[in-house]
Amino acid sequence: MQQVRRKLVAGNWKMHGYPALVAELVPNVVAATQNLNMDVLFIPPYTSLAAVSEQVKNTHCFVGAQSVSEYPEGAYTGEVSTRMLLDLGCKFTLVGHSERRSIFGESNADVAAKFLAAKQAGIEPILCVGETLQQRESGDTEQCIDRQLQAVVDVLDSIGGADGLNGAIVAYEPVWAIGTGRTASAEQAQAVHAFIRDEIAELNSDIAEELKILYGGSVNESNAGELFAQKDIDGGLIGGSSLKADSFSAICQAAS
Ligand code: PEP
Repeated sequence: MQQVRRKLVAGNWKMHGYPALVAELVPNVVAATQNLNMDVLFIPPYTSLAAVSEQVKNTHCFVGAQSVSEYPEGAYTGEVSTRMLLDLGCKFTLVGHSERRSIFGESNADVAAKFLAAKQAGIEPILCVGETLQQRESGDTEQCIDRQLQAVVDVLDSIGGADGLNGAIVAYEPVWAIGTGRTASAEQAQAVHAFIRDEIAELNSDIAEELKILYGGSVNESNAGELFAQKDIDGGLIGGSSLKADSFSAICQAAS
């Protein structure tokens, strides 16, 4: 029997989000989405987490972080720990966003360590995976994603093996589609989402059936409906279009 996975739309603000944006955008989106049958997640920069957390208190919306330290505490200048995120009301954190991987050099092993730290702290990691244009064009999409998933699976032993994926989320974000205005077609995205679910099903079919897999990469209000209608696409990770209340709310509407 096929499970019904509740859709999630997450807005990754990246390095945007001054107090004026928080004050304008968050209440508008909260009001526009309150009767929808889906979940909404705001992912602002660290400096806006407290303010967004306050704005979403007692609403249907959640707040999450863009990354997290793999270390619990100590002399790690510039890092933010899981406990700090919990104190700010974060229920989720991205790990392995392609900008963290390509600009800041995070390896698959680094991302896996962050995934493990989040899980151990009770924060659900949203594991971002995706291939570059060069990998896609040379037919290496599945191998790339397989390596990104496998690095996480390799560290899950200490939290019950594949059970450690329970409740976690995967975001498939083809690197060539992020911030480029070039979206994967619904068929291209669905094919990779099905591949990810099949890979996880080899470890545990129940967890695979429940796993939310988000699509990210130039999602907007025009293409969201077709993407979210695909069998294995359970919502979206939205960058640019999450900074405008109308666009983000319309994308949430397309998921409900
Ligand atoms: C992202 O930052 O995760 C993203 C998908 O960005 P955009 O929607 O702007 O492509």
